[in-house]
Amino acid sequence: MRYLIISDMHGNSDALAAVLDHVAGEELDAVLNLGDLVGYGASPNEVVEALDGLALPSHTVRGNHDKVAAGIDDGMGFNPTALTAARWTAEQLTAENLERVRALPQGPKQVDEGLVICHGSPFDEDYYLLSVFDAEDIFSTWKTPVTFFGHTHVPAAFASREGGGIEIEVLYGDEVKLELEVDYGVRYLINPGSVGQPRDRDPRAAYMIYDSEEQVVLLRRIEYPVGEAQERIIEAGLPRLLADRLALGY
Ligand code: ZN
Repeated sequence: MRYLIISDMHGNSDALAAVLDHVAGEELDAVLNLGDLVGYGASPNEVVEALDGLALPSHTVRGNHDKVAAGIDDGMGFNPTALTAARWTAEQLTAENLERVRALPQGPKQVDEGLVICHGSPFDEDYYLLSVFDAEDIFSTWKTPVTFFGHTHVPAAFASREGGGIEIEVLYGDEVKLELEVDYGVRYLINPGSVGQPRDRDPRAAYMIYDSEEQVVLLRRIEYPVGEAQERIIEAGLPRLLADRLALGY
């Protein structure tokens, strides 16, 4: 199977459209969506509808911003900017799209044998998996060979070798190829980065392609019209910071 893996779209329809355009010629079997469809960006309806209208089968889990926009979580853990954007999003979403966001399932979600997706971590959808120590905790009891997670907006791969330590690879560049060693008992926690609000100082949209037969993961970074996404945020009256950070990739 060849999977398109996307995460953290955050209401940025310009970035999502660029990603979907970029993979239009690819042979893909399914889409894995790691959550946070909305929040921050000014086009939540467009993002929800674009994802709902995909011709490919999709597996999706909800993110923390989806929960707040849908009223499942009160957002008291959010900073003021995030909360303002989540409340704005809740008002903007059509009744149908609000229902779609509310219906997104909680992760982790098993996609296939040995393949799971989640938003934060397999044990807590709101957890920020950032360090080798975090990964070590998870690997100590989580035995799934390949798990994709989002939430941090930073492309990275953690690998656990049997009898060895944990390796982390921060994935940076136009196209980064990872050859997985699942057949040798290595387990992985992999983050595709963010489509709609990258935070690794590279403002380009990030996505991955995972070929489960070849056991190859490709991270790609692509340009999109950042200025248009910024303009929409400003026109919507959302906090200016949300527009500024898109150009900085942070
Ligand atoms: Zn997010």
